[in-house]
Amino acid sequence: MSDDCSHGQHHYHHHHHHLGLAEGIPQSYIVKLQWVVGLAILYLVMQTIGSYLSGSLALLADAGHKLADIAAISLALFASWFSSLASSPRKTFGYYRMEILAALINATGLVFIAVVILWQAYERAMRHSSVEIEGGMMLAASLVGLLINCISAKILYPEREANLNVKGALFHVLTDILNSLGEIVTAAGILLFRFYWLDTAISAIIATLVLYNASRVFGEAVNILMESAPKRLHMAKVRDFILRYPNVDDLHDLHIWTITTGKDALLAHVKVKDGAFTHEMARSLEKELRDAFNLCHITIQLEPPGFEESDIPF
Ligand SMILES: [Zn+2]
Ligand SMILES: [Zn+2]
Repeated sequence: MSDDCSHGQHHYHHHHHHLGLAEGIPQSYIVKLQWVVGLAILYLVMQTIGSYLSGSLALLADAGHKLADIAAISLALFASWFSSLASSPRKTFGYYRMEILAALINATGLVFIAVVILWQAYERAMRHSSVEIEGGMMLAASLVGLLINCISAKILYPEREANLNVKGALFHVLTDILNSLGEIVTAAGILLFRFYWLDTAISAIIATLVLYNASRVFGEAVNILMESAPKRLHMAKVRDFILRYPNVDDLHDLHIWTITTGKDALLAHVKVKDGAFTHEMARSLEKELRDAFNLCHITIQLEPPGFEESDIPF
């Protein structure tokens, strides 16, 4: 049973992937997302320089957050390319898990960045902000940031209904615009009233959000590497579904795991009632499981009554 399941769930026939062409994201959207990544890299560089020149921690935290955005969109783009790499005799699952490994490494880096920024914010708060921030420089950097975010939103806006990836990216850029506005308010507060604590507060909020998101990604990646059953599925329901299937007597060795995001696999041993052991049953059970639970790769061992089980653990 070696069907490759693409992002749609009902591909039974064999079809080969073509290198470099994403299945999930059409080419025109890929170009737009690449533009957004390019702008985000520009933003990252500008905010880092702005932070260095002005002494603003909020700008640095926002640069860290933009790094998370860049990683997230690049992963979505690369995932479709990784998965198009052919599987080899040894890498029988292909390169799907590259996406998970990349997400894990990326999340680890972001947790580190967020912790460093939180530590800095804590230090500043304890020293009662002896750090003076160049309000004018910070204002300039955050205005440029606002402009870049608005351009990204404008690039994505026309495609908002056409593609989920684009819609998600657009929604995110809109929250980034709010970030920029927060930084502008902070810079104005520093320029007008010398409210240096605002910068520390904003940087702590942004770093906390980065930490929260990164630890969620980290947790999901670890779960997938641990071969945990996907959260979207209730194992008891799957078990029930199989046990209630006509002519099924019993079930053991049920495993469901995620190969990569959106590709879940199932393995099960199903004991069949006397005389009911047919190829049709195997096929229809497989098809109905696939449709009911949106599974990708299914392996079922039908066992007739009296089948001698080997003594293999799990
Ligand atoms: Zn963002
Ligand atoms: Zn068995």
